[in-house]
Amino acid sequence: MEHKNIFRFLPSVDKVLLMPEVDKILQRYPRNIVVDSVREALDELRDTLKNKLEVINKSEDVSYEEWLKQLAIDLVKRKTQKKGEANFRKVINGTGVVLHTNLGRAPLSQKAQEAINDIACNYSNLELDLSTGERGSRYEHITELLVKLTGAESALVVNNNAGAVLLALAALARNREVIVSRGQLVEIGGSFRVPEVMEQSGATLIEVGATNKTHPQDYERAITEETGLLLKVHTSNYRVVGFTRETSSEELVSIGGKYGVPVMEDLGSGFLVNLRDYGIGDEPTVQECVSSGMDIVTFSGDKLLGGPQAGIIIGKKVYVDKIKKHPLTRALRVDKLTLAALEATLREYLEPEMVLASVPTLKMLRIPFEELEQKAEYLFSEINTKMDTHFNEGERKYIKVEIIDGFSQVGGGALPTTNLKTKLVAICLENLSLNDIAAKLRSRRPAILVRINDNKILIDVRTILDNEIIIIASSLTEIISESFTK
Ligand SMILES: *Cc1c(COP(=O)(O)O)cnc(C)c1O
Repeated sequence: MEHKNIFRFLPSVDKVLLMPEVDKILQRYPRNIVVDSVREALDELRDTLKNKLEVINKSEDVSYEEWLKQLAIDLVKRKTQKKGEANFRKVINGTGVVLHTNLGRAPLSQKAQEAINDIACNYSNLELDLSTGERGSRYEHITELLVKLTGAESALVVNNNAGAVLLALAALARNREVIVSRGQLVEIGGSFRVPEVMEQSGATLIEVGATNKTHPQDYERAITEETGLLLKVHTSNYRVVGFTRETSSEELVSIGGKYGVPVMEDLGSGFLVNLRDYGIGDEPTVQECVSSGMDIVTFSGDKLLGGPQAGIIIGKKVYVDKIKKHPLTRALRVDKLTLAALEATLREYLEPEMVLASVPTLKMLRIPFEELEQKAEYLFSEINTKMDTHFNEGERKYIKVEIIDGFSQVGGGALPTTNLKTKLVAICLENLSLNDIAAKLRSRRPAILVRINDNKILIDVRTILDNEIIIIASSLTEIISESFTK
């Protein structure tokens, strides 16, 4: 067959749409999406024919027409499936990073999920005071809770902690100077940098001290008529260790008091339970920060707190009121679903004994080692059983599954030096590309994320839920089996 003649067997868009196989697809997916897929599929086929005709192997018994038709239908099916399903989807987190920013940080508690459901599909008293029937404030729903839990005088919640810091700086120190230690000019992922946020807020950054040491006198010497705020930023995602001196919150508060300058702390990943009691990390709690006398404290809702994305601002009423009145507050306001989830999450903390089991992030951080061992055994045996039944001896010998020791991370820019002892299920696959397998795991629904290290696929059971174990085992088996047949 002459190369150029083959194109006339390529069906038209309309013809493909009329094929019974494509009609079936049309019954399941919006026409728009199917039409796009048909166009793309035909373009792709045209390119394939143009570029690498010789590598395509067509069986002798099939006509060109039939062959192209089948290729087109397969392509349309695959493309439509991909376009027709949500991009944003569930991921099984086998990385062991508990607060993975790329994976949406904290999974919510059961009660937070229920609260979102209830508020999402109904009207609510978002900005209505039900006792008077008059207009209310969306912030009121959680102010009292935050005050009770943290010991602060007042509270406000905005879109996220980056927003909280920007807003607080703009409201309290615009056109004024803000003094920060050189050891705390933090960059958080996603280009949140203290000096840049400061610039956006209209405040002037005054750096003091050195990277490793900033003494109380350094702050004192920098205070002038122009000083609007002393700022402490928690070095969430790194530690300065060795020959160091950080000015403590108490010391800063005392300097602020002496010169009549407000003091603010950006805690980053504030938490309300003392994880040090459980041998995790060395970070202060939000309550400790408040009781040190800080005028304003900000932290995230979706880091160690284990709630939805939010920026929580707590502190002295005069300052919180001032922040509330700033126009940026409206621009950064939280939506009703966030408020619903945040209130429910905060309510979990009213029962300190229960919260460690009910908030998933806290549960994952504190999961007893024996439980990790059991979970690893379960995953290990599920994978092995599936592999034993699925593969013949010849194939099976290329697959080795074992349980090994390892470490999980807290993540989310929190407790960067804390490694949590964990159990990993390791899968060794001779002759197969591990990156390939990992990519295929990611393309599943739900997507599955694993680590690759030392020529092994590693699955950390700390961040895996029990009901996900069977999904992992069967996905792995299917993917490996596809790879073998290639
Ligand atoms: C994480 C973090 C932020 C940003 O918080 P988001 O809620 O992600 O906006 C700001 N400051 C510190 C110190 C942080 O750790």
